[in-house]
Amino acid sequence: MHAQSTYDAKIDALLAKMTLEEKIGQMNQYNGFYDATGPAPQGGNAALKYEHLKKGWVGSMLNVHGVGEVRKLQELVVNESRLGIPLLFGFDVIHGYKTLAPIPLAEAASWDLEAIRQSASIAATEAAAVGLNWTFAPMIDISRDARWGRVMEGAGEDPYLGAKIAIARIQGFQGNDLSAPNTIAATAKHFAAYGFAEAGKEYNTTEVGTNTLYNFVLPPFEAAVSANVSSVMNGFNLLNGVPVTASSFLQRDILKGKWNFNGFVISDWSSIGELVPHGYAKDLKEAAELGAEAGSDMDMESKAYIQHLKSLVEEGKVDEEIINEAVRRILKVKFELGLFDDPYRYCNLEREKELLYNKAHQQGVLDMAKKSIVLLKNQGKLLPLQKDQKNILVIGDLADDKNSPLGSWRLASDNDTAVSVLEGLDQYTKDYKFVQGPKYFNDDTDFLYHVKINSDDRSGMEEAIEAAKSAETIVLVVGEHGFMSGEGRSRTTIGLPGLQHELIRKIHAVNKNIILVMMNGRPLTIPWEAENLPAIIEAWQLGSQTGNAIAQVLFGDYNPSGKLPMTFPRSVGQIPIYYNHYSTARAKEEPIVFWTHYTDEKNEPLFPFGFGLSYANFAYSDVQIDAAKPENIKVSVVVTNTSDVAGEEVVQLYLNDPVSRIVRPVKELKGFEKITLGPKESKKVSFSLTHKELGYYNQDYRWVVEPGSFHLMIGSNSQEGVHASFILE
Ligand code: BGC
Repeated sequence: MHAQSTYDAKIDALLAKMTLEEKIGQMNQYNGFYDATGPAPQGGNAALKYEHLKKGWVGSMLNVHGVGEVRKLQELVVNESRLGIPLLFGFDVIHGYKTLAPIPLAEAASWDLEAIRQSASIAATEAAAVGLNWTFAPMIDISRDARWGRVMEGAGEDPYLGAKIAIARIQGFQGNDLSAPNTIAATAKHFAAYGFAEAGKEYNTTEVGTNTLYNFVLPPFEAAVSANVSSVMNGFNLLNGVPVTASSFLQRDILKGKWNFNGFVISDWSSIGELVPHGYAKDLKEAAELGAEAGSDMDMESKAYIQHLKSLVEEGKVDEEIINEAVRRILKVKFELGLFDDPYRYCNLEREKELLYNKAHQQGVLDMAKKSIVLLKNQGKLLPLQKDQKNILVIGDLADDKNSPLGSWRLASDNDTAVSVLEGLDQYTKDYKFVQGPKYFNDDTDFLYHVKINSDDRSGMEEAIEAAKSAETIVLVVGEHGFMSGEGRSRTTIGLPGLQHELIRKIHAVNKNIILVMMNGRPLTIPWEAENLPAIIEAWQLGSQTGNAIAQVLFGDYNPSGKLPMTFPRSVGQIPIYYNHYSTARAKEEPIVFWTHYTDEKNEPLFPFGFGLSYANFAYSDVQIDAAKPENIKVSVVVTNTSDVAGEEVVQLYLNDPVSRIVRPVKELKGFEKITLGPKESKKVSFSLTHKELGYYNQDYRWVVEPGSFHLMIGSNSQEGVHASFILE
């Protein structure tokens, strides 16, 4: 397969000059954190890597960032290697470089594609300013398992929403022209099915049948390819017995074949080397052979390619055309980025100074943060707080934390740079008191280590309870530490960690006026809180502007509009729990036991997919369907704001094909629109359903649309709405 591009002639000319070692060098990516003059604090073999860089045997570095470091290394390669082919500098710019946006799962809760695009564009601008030209984002793994720590990095459980967000993020990172300033190449990861790790355990095996693979796991990747994503990263997981890094089926047949992807595939960290411990390759050399043959174009840090591909070609085990194809793909992205015209891509100290933590970026991530907040409960209208509200008591370790709300996956940003909840409140009132209560977490932690949870030291508990007795309103801030989610952070229980539940119950025993503000990187099981507390705000980890966003929602300057992108279970035993499940033949509730249910837990989730309240109320009416043209069915609904305050609503359309040859889920999101409605205002919202929305992939991975009747529901979440049906001729 030869990826076509406008740079073909240039690529061919360059390729013709390259030795086999130089070609293989392009397929080799080394980890950095070191400069050309000294040894590596991380990454090992500094001297060897340095020699390889000088010879042009390295195509890319990861984890080298900052104008100084990038320029030094790029100069070394451009000036000293024989052909001077510039390096790609890759980095995990996941939700910002210095200025941090909310964690990706939180952003997904905004359902606001333009805001998400902007947020990725802010991240790209800062990353590009320090010389980075490639991010390992977005992660577009669908997951139905909140135990898996990496759900914080994705867009949740739904392939339709996931595909739209994937496109928005890629457009935000890449812009329309990769060679323009403020753009970087994006990576769709992890290809594929990593989010289906068994039992939510990190790096675990995945076994996924074709129906789920084609209809749930792959659609966001197909969308990413359609949005011209520059690269795709494979993963650590076995899929149905084959490591995805060595899967020709995924990488050659589907990605580069059926979808015609013409960027390049980067392995996950050392995942080519991991073919050995997986029991798939007998040694690193065979791993190199199998990885290259399966279409893994670039080797991240396992050194399998640089050590073994040359002899594999010389021995006739790997066809040199495989190498040529991989190198073409990599060079194409380098050309598109403009690296051959300017290897430093606008990166200089002035731009670095001007753009990092830039004011406009702070404003942008504040906007994103507000939109990411989900109001889960507001009974008795404790919210919003009055501007002159007196006697507010704020409790909780996380309320004055400036670090944890930055969330996981922030390799470059400085610690303690979030606006804390208290700092946010300060903008509104001085008439509040803060009592920390018991510590939730012990000492500081970082990306590499586990968070230590305090489950014993109750000091602070009594003081908080005492203070609560006389408060008018309590803002109780709870959640996970920012580093409790992310890579390597699977949990078997997903309740509030440590003493928090106990604290909440003890406070509640003396004062019921509690607004719970939750900061977490995954859905949590909080059935008692959902039942007993009057107000709950899901604030995730909102990044640099956390406190300002939360304060604006608390005081009603921003009317919350977020909707959950992932189901909140009542208990871990319900997992996997997701809205687009199938009907069982025994779904009907009966007095005898033989129907689908648990004996000790409800079937329903705690909060369903798509759920989120507003300070306004919305009513849905008057669904109209025009099915005259089967290739374009028109649907409309009237949404009315029945309240006296303006608000935003995410109007969601769910579809069900009640009878089909591969059974379809009870409902599937097939359209949404975020609208703003003034007090008492009504708007008609229209959708069109084409064969793209009406069909599904069958066992042969062919798209089929079956005529017959369809049901639809339009509403404010996956459980509530107005219903209608139509016949597809
Ligand atoms: C992760 C990737 C990440 C890479 C580079 C791996 O451990 O799975 O998502 O991009 O490291 O940091």
